[in-house]
Amino acid sequence: MRLSRRTLLCALSAWSLAGCDTTAQAAQSHRTPNAGPNPPEAEPPEPEPPQPPPEAREPQTRATVYLVSLGPFDAGMLDAIEAGLADELQVEVKRLGRKPLPKSAWYAPRKRFRADIILDHLPTLIPDEPESTRILALTQKDISTTKGKFKDWGVFGLGNMPGQAAVVSNYRLKRKAKGPKHLRRRIVNTAIHEVGHMLGLAHCTEHDERCPMQDAEGSIANTDASTGHLGPQCRAELERELPRR
Ligand SMILES: [Zn+2]
Ligand SMILES: [Zn+2]
Repeated sequence: MRLSRRTLLCALSAWSLAGCDTTAQAAQSHRTPNAGPNPPEAEPPEPEPPQPPPEAREPQTRATVYLVSLGPFDAGMLDAIEAGLADELQVEVKRLGRKPLPKSAWYAPRKRFRADIILDHLPTLIPDEPESTRILALTQKDISTTKGKFKDWGVFGLGNMPGQAAVVSNYRLKRKAKGPKHLRRRIVNTAIHEVGHMLGLAHCTEHDERCPMQDAEGSIANTDASTGHLGPQCRAELERELPRR
């Protein structure tokens, strides 16, 4: 509506200016002495400030997600994760500085960190934020959780569903990666998967091996097959469950 009205105003201005060129002299010569002060000369119309197109004014964000590295983590990789989450899930990404892994998460029998305890710890890093704000942690250390009959099962990542916290480790994703780009794709896809869980998405039930919400099922194959773009079913579910605002 705004565009068409602006277009109409421009057209009217152009018409009246064109009219001035040809009729101004004639109009002045017919003015009577009692007709009052001369009307102010027509000024050229003020150019309107540029307006963003209507679609750019639509809300684009469905949640805020903090990124935090627990211990050192590659800065370029964090940038890629931020871009991937913003593009694919339309979340606003904020950064926390590097924090230490919580000692309480150390699992001495397997010399690795319990992902579930990390998830319990993460909201304490953003105490002043509302519960609708999420936090995703990245770590280079191996992480694990209980999976069925396995008391301590190594994982790529873990996220509450729905919930406030998720964690991704590159420890297992690095294995047999063909290079930095391949590793980056794996990490970004896994981050999208875990943040998708936080936002309420369950595992994909579509036979769409490219959807990043496919269950990893204990192997890297699904992560590698994923394009990093939600399939139609998961996309529709996300729009339904957590619309942009
Ligand atoms: Zn899907
Ligand atoms: Zn999952």
